[in-house]
Amino acid sequence: MISCLLIPMQPEKKLTPENLFIRPCDKKEMNTINDKINSLIQKHKSKIPLMFPKKLSEGYASFLHGKLEREHARYKKLEEEGQHPEIMIIGCGDSRVAPETIFDAGPGEIFVIRNIANLIPPCESDVESSFHGTSAAVEFAVNALKVKHIVVLGHASCGGIAAYANKAAPLSQRDFIGKWMSQIAPVADKLGPPTGRPAKLDTPA
Ligand SMILES: [Zn+2]
Repeated sequence: MISCLLIPMQPEKKLTPENLFIRPCDKKEMNTINDKINSLIQKHKSKIPLMFPKKLSEGYASFLHGKLEREHARYKKLEEEGQHPEIMIIGCGDSRVAPETIFDAGPGEIFVIRNIANLIPPCESDVESSFHGTSAAVEFAVNALKVKHIVVLGHASCGGIAAYANKAAPLSQRDFIGKWMSQIAPVADKLGPPTGRPAKLDTPA
């Protein structure tokens, strides 16, 4: 799949999901759009940093002229044949533990969902009771993509786990993170209070 990120044609317009979209296109169209983006960037250089993070605009330009060009055939094949990843990874949103980077994976190779502390909430039978983001991703990976492996990627120095263990602000049972992290209570209770040493769970005989 070759995707184009289109920034608004009216740079003074606020970025919203409605005027920013991603869609497939061929290389010729991509170059045309890229030229338009570049001319807009030059024309409205002073305003753009306020609208869109420089890190992203520069990174995207680098991607367009680098990896996307080098691996054009691969992206084209993914566009034509769709994605068929064999591995699903459930990871933490922590910016230091991007699964694609850690496992040196390319486009189309792993299906990833990330949330706070790489948790998988209990499967609820009542689909109408709430919005089950992680469950929806697992359902899609298993039923539609038919992945062969599901890997839960934990990591050291997880802020979500540390906040739960230390009862650190702003966590409370009244905020989203507090509620979310309360899911680890059964395991945390088994482990006891934090000791600063790596924990060991009792394994069944
Ligand atoms: Zn984490």
